[in-house]
Amino acid sequence: MEPWPLGVFASIDAGLGVKLEVAHELAIPTIHLHAPHADTRTPEHAARFLQRLKAFDIRISCVFCGFDGESYADIPTVARTVGLVPTSTRAARTQEMKEISDFARILGVDAIGLHVGCVPHDPTDAEYGRLLVVMRELCDHARKNRQNVHLETGQESADVLLKFLEDTARDNLFINFDPANLILYGVGHPLEDLRKVGRYVRSVHLKDGKWSDKPGVTWGQEVPLGTGDVNIPAYMDVLNEIGYDGPLTIEREIPEQAERQKAEIRNALDLLQREKLRLGRV
Ligand code: MG
Repeated sequence: MEPWPLGVFASIDAGLGVKLEVAHELAIPTIHLHAPHADTRTPEHAARFLQRLKAFDIRISCVFCGFDGESYADIPTVARTVGLVPTSTRAARTQEMKEISDFARILGVDAIGLHVGCVPHDPTDAEYGRLLVVMRELCDHARKNRQNVHLETGQESADVLLKFLEDTARDNLFINFDPANLILYGVGHPLEDLRKVGRYVRSVHLKDGKWSDKPGVTWGQEVPLGTGDVNIPAYMDVLNEIGYDGPLTIEREIPEQAERQKAEIRNALDLLQREKLRLGRV
């Protein structure tokens, strides 16, 4: 496949990504797929879905896990509800992630992604150690399905994430780099952090955001690609510099405004096409 194929975050029946038809209409060749609900994660649904993908000439590059009960309402709610960090749902969600990995295998996808949640910043915290145990379990399960696991950036600094990856000590654990999240959560600076963790980056989101006036306390604001504080041309320069050549997956989740969402994604595609030209990656 050509370097830097364009992509978009998409959904079937769960999650906030665009519908497959929108990706097709915009002639986007790759998607990150939000995992469908449990009752549609069957071989029959997978076969039908694969047929549609084939008809649309779209390839899934990563299946993202999401869970009932997660809320991104504000930063403290994320800490309480997202990923494998909340203890009351950890076992059930770990099991569900394994099922999503199995479903992704049926779809022929070799990467699963997730927001692990807010990893404790102190490695001597007992919860940190428990989280390592479930991450290893998940990586080992994914390995049986010949998959890598991609942790999405955003809820912790690059240093905490690097330490967590190294402590997990599994060679199929990598990073999905989302530059906007670092700004929205107020935990880092996209360009610096991308250089720091670049050797682990196997997928990326193209998303933009503006800093909150109280970084880390209140949310920043997610905005159309190229209009925020990420500095997309500079981000593309660093992706080029670290040798990343996987899909450029646009993430813009405003499904309540489908027409606006489509128009913004179209603009984002134009922007990325220009960047690919500028960097000679076409
Ligand atoms: Mg993202």
